[in-house]
Amino acid sequence: MEVLDVAIIGGGPAGLTAGIYASRSGLKILMFEKGISGGAANTAPWVENYPGFEAIEGMKLMDMIGAQARKYVEVKAGESIESLANDGNEFIIKTSKGEYRARAIIYATGSVHRRLGVPGEGSLLGRGVSYCATCDGFFFREKKVAIVGGGNNAATEAIYLKKLGIDVTIIHRRDALRAEESLQNTIASMGINVIYDSVVEEIFGEKKLEKLKLKNVKTSDISEIEFDGVFISIGDIPQIELAKELGVGINDDGYIDVDRTQRSSIPMVYAAGDVTGGFRQIITACSEGAIAANSAHEDLAKPYWI
Ligand code: NAP
Repeated sequence: MEVLDVAIIGGGPAGLTAGIYASRSGLKILMFEKGISGGAANTAPWVENYPGFEAIEGMKLMDMIGAQARKYVEVKAGESIESLANDGNEFIIKTSKGEYRARAIIYATGSVHRRLGVPGEGSLLGRGVSYCATCDGFFFREKKVAIVGGGNNAATEAIYLKKLGIDVTIIHRRDALRAEESLQNTIASMGINVIYDSVVEEIFGEKKLEKLKLKNVKTSDISEIEFDGVFISIGDIPQIELAKELGVGINDDGYIDVDRTQRSSIPMVYAAGDVTGGFRQIITACSEGAIAANSAHEDLAKPYWI
């Protein structure tokens, strides 16, 4: 079996950029992406802080990066990794379709949406409960929705939904949004309602979502408000299960621990993008992917006795 130089796990901005850099430095690589190439950035309604583009839809930007990367990298799309091991010499990657060997691994596995964990969230998923405004916003035109969360994602999604003609209310657990100031200014100028100091305790509905039960965390007052949908945007959880299989160090915040060169606690294992925490922007994911590829190239080029 031919041994790869690098196996890249994950096809979001970090993995795709790692692929471009690793291939251009002459390494033999393969990328494994269990879902859709582009990762979570696909779901950003638009992106206004990726240099070179004043404003671009997340999916369009990722299509462009993906098309560029595929000129250099073979992507094993839809091929999920079932196990990862190290025989002391090489990494052995078992997937749903076969087995591969690689001398180095780059984790770019990203993150998944955090759930609220309240009654009704699971049973009404797809019937009013959503985690992606770009994917599902269209179905709520001229209706009334809530967005739970106070970060950049919640703010961006609220603005996107409002522009679709939807009556939007942000529900945030504190008395101030976490989102950057320019987004907060847009929210205010568009007249988007914000309910502060409140958490969702339950989501009600028979066939589809009908109302939310809210609790004011300062007064303990309970209220029930009618909505047609709720978009839950309360951050994300890094996908570290495969990293744990190799015993890669995880930091206190639950992300893969890397140094400034994207090297992990295990030799020849690197990580980049959302799975490493930090600033979690598309531009930083790309940057980390490039650095990880460069570190792998440096380490693979070292004579074996060093
Ligand atoms: P985030 O920045 O971590 O914000 C999560 C929000 O959800 C916070 O406001 C948090 O409240 C709230 N929250 C967390 N757990 C909750 C719970 N159980 N119940 C109620 N509320 C809860 O996550 P994000 O907005 O998804 O963004 C993820 C990353 O992508 C961030 O690094 C962000 O900067 C980046 N991003 C950037 C842009 C942009 O640059 N334009 C756009 C989208 C995303 P507290 O505020 O009280 O902690």
